[in-house]
Amino acid sequence: MFCPKCKAEYRSGFTVCADCDVPLVDKLPEEKELPPKPPYKQLKALFNTAEIAVIKSILDDAKIDYYFRGERFQAMHVPLVDPAILMIREDQFEAVKKLLEELE
Ligand SMILES: [Zn+2]
Repeated sequence: MFCPKCKAEYRSGFTVCADCDVPLVDKLPEEKELPPKPPYKQLKALFNTAEIAVIKSILDDAKIDYYFRGERFQAMHVPLVDPAILMIREDQFEAVKKLLEELE
């Protein structure tokens, strides 16, 4: 049994995570953090949710494939502790860098 929140493993017999107070599950959902193919490169780390929103709309408009690693949008009201790391496909990396430079 696993806690879906903190991913702690429990022996059978337990039904609730002692730390998180959430029901345990048989299996953890598949990790979605694995980088998609083709290889992605880290462009920059962003701490500001407003800035992230702007960058997302620009990249969507430009039809760029990207994803953020470590973003915590489910905790909008909590200050960002971990940066969201902007990951860009290697073959689009230079184009995105230019786009964002124009932005600044
Ligand atoms: Zn837990």
